[in-house]
Parts: sequence; structure tokens; C-alpha cells
Amino acid sequence: MKQINLKTRPVGLPSKDTFEIKDVKLKGMQSGDVHIQLVYLSVDPYLRGRMNDTKSYIPPFKLNEPIVSTGIGKVVKSKSDDFLEGDFVIGSVPWQEEAILPGETLQKIDPAVAKLPAYLGIIGMTGLTAYFGLLDIGQPEPDETVVVSAGAGAVGSAVGQIAQIKGARVVGIAGSEEKIHYMVNELGFDVGINYKTKEFSHNLAKACPNGIDVYFENVGGKVSDAVWPLLNKFARIPVCGTISSYNKTAEEDMGPRVQSYLIKSSAKMQGFTVGDYADQFAEGKKQLVQWLEEGKLIHKETLVHGFDQTIPAFLSLFDGKNIGKIVVDVRGK
Ligand code: NDP
Repeated sequence: MKQINLKTRPVGLPSKDTFEIKDVKLKGMQSGDVHIQLVYLSVDPYLRGRMNDTKSYIPPFKLNEPIVSTGIGKVVKSKSDDFLEGDFVIGSVPWQEEAILPGETLQKIDPAVAKLPAYLGIIGMTGLTAYFGLLDIGQPEPDETVVVSAGAGAVGSAVGQIAQIKGARVVGIAGSEEKIHYMVNELGFDVGINYKTKEFSHNLAKACPNGIDVYFENVGGKVSDAVWPLLNKFARIPVCGTISSYNKTAEEDMGPRVQSYLIKSSAKMQGFTVGDYADQFAEGKKQLVQWLEEGKLIHKETLVHGFDQTIPAFLSLFDGKNIGKIVVDVRGK
């Protein structure tokens, strides 16, 4: 069985050499354990932060130990009363083809409710991030302008759609014409802006004639520098992520300071992690599933096939190849 370990702590953008792919054997099962075959693995930008040996809201990965992320498995054998062979389960899993895990760390999921990859996206961690960050911190009102960066990605595509459900006008920012097309023509955003064009700042200002009431921050850096001058009085800024800085090695990414813009607009900027809302996950998931069933939310996954594609899938997050949630189909085609 193959396992992917962290071999070295990356400086800047990780590469294939950051990781080591090893052949390992499974340990024996204890009472309460569940043996799963990995079916889908989530690769996420926050995993980059866990590769650094720095203090954060979640401990760093250890060298020569497997990377861990959320995954979906099929039960091969169970010594837990809660799971039967053939059940699909979700939990925090090591990057390996099979795993033996304590049953209490897994939750059963129902493929009849939604397609399995959706449990890693729209009704999983990224959907909940969008839901709580936007509604609790962003608090969009009807006809307000909500701007979301990485708007065609997993979190961003959910943010824009939830903002529309709340009656807001939505402007999505993304890095390719294909993504602009996706945001406007498939997700129904009012405007999509490509931040990789020379006219980006001008186009953003034109797309927000009434200013910006909510900016859902996913990327930071130059993209967000274009947002600050457009903030309206009492704007709200849920700070979800700053992916443009995750591979920076030094203070090379300062941009205009945000403080003066916050003062001028009396805006409120608040960082959060989805884990802050853990005690409300059930309520959030129920609402997301309901919107999905009502056809108010759509979702797209970029599936990559094969366990050996896990590292390229993770690295592709930093060059923006994915539309919607990127998920590894571990078993291949
Ligand atoms: P996405 O599906 O949005 O994928 C990442 C996207 O980021 C890429 O597709 C790319 O899109 C964009 N991107 C990459 N590098 C840059 C750059 N230098 N400048 C601008 N855009 C860039 O990932 P997620 O939806 O999983 O995550 C989105 C953000 O939310 C991340 O910052 C992540 O860390 C954060 N997050 C935070 C959570 C929390 O609890 N606070 C939970 C989950 C995610 P493009 O082609 O448009 O450049």
C-alpha cells in the first residue's frame, strides 16, 4: 500500500521533492477500529500551512509522517459496532490507499443524499466555511454588493451562491476566462472579473458602482489591494484565507496597508476558521443540503484520478487549475 509522507519542509512553493511516497503495511486492527479503502481525498490550501514548523490554529505535520486531510473511505472490515462492511465514511485520514482508524474518528455518510465528493465540498468543510463566514461575519443584506475572491473555487463558488440566495449582488474575482464564464453563466454571479488582466482594478471599480458592502477574502495580496478603496461605510470583511501569500518566503507582499481604508469606511475585518463554528455544523449542513435539494445551490468538482495524482492535485491549487472543489478519486478511473 502506498503512503505519502512529508519529507522536507518546503521553502516557497512545495514540489514533488517535498513528499516521499512509501510502500507500507497496515498495522493490525484493535477493538473499535475500522479498516477502510480510501475512495476520495480532499486536497486543500490550508495543508500548505501545516507543512511549516510554525505555531498556528492546527499543529504542523511531522517530518516522515503521512499528510492528513479529510477523506472518504469504504469500509472493508469493521471491529466497531457503528459501521458495517460497505458503509461509506468520512473523517480525517492519512494520505494512503487504505487505513485502519478508530471508529470514533469517522462518520457514516449517505450516497443517496448527495454524490460522495460533495461531502468534501459543498456540504462539507468548504461549503460550511462559506456558509458561516459569509452569514455570521459578512451578514449580506438584499441589494448589497458582495465581492468574493477565488470566486470559482470551492469556498468562493459557495459564497457567491449563498450571497445570491440572500438577495445580494455578487461580483466574483478569478484568474481565467473559463472561470469568469463559470461564475457568471453557471453560478449566476452578476459580474466576473479576471484579476490577471491589466485593467483589473478599473474593471472591479466599474463592476461595483455602489461600492462594496461585503468582501469575502480568500486570496489577499494585489487582488485585495484593489478592493480596499471601494469599501462602503460599515463594510464587512470575513478573512477566510490569503492563498497568494502561502508560498511567500519573506515580506515581499506588503501592498497598501489596509488600516486606513478600514478607518475611512468604518469597516469590520474578522478572521475565522471553519472550526470556530463546529458546534453549529449540523445546522449549517442541514441548510446547505436543503438549498442543494431545492436547486438553489449547484456544485462542481474537479476530479483527478488515481492516488498517484494526489501531490499534483495539491500543487495545482496554487496555479488555479481547479474549478470548484478539487478532489482525488483515489481508486482511479
Ligand atoms: P480553491 O478551490 O479556491 O482553490 C484555490 C484557488 O486560489 C485557485 O484555484 C486559484 O484560483 C486561487 N489562487 C491560487 N493562487 C493565487 C494567487 N497567488 N492569487 C490569487 N488567487 C490565487 O480553494 P478553497 O476554496 O479550498 O480555499 C479558498 C481559500 O479559503 C484559501 O485561501 C483557503 O486557505 C481558505 N480556506 C479557509 C478556511 C477557513 O476555515 N478559514 C477553510 C477552507 C479554505 P484562480 O484561478 O482564481 O487564481
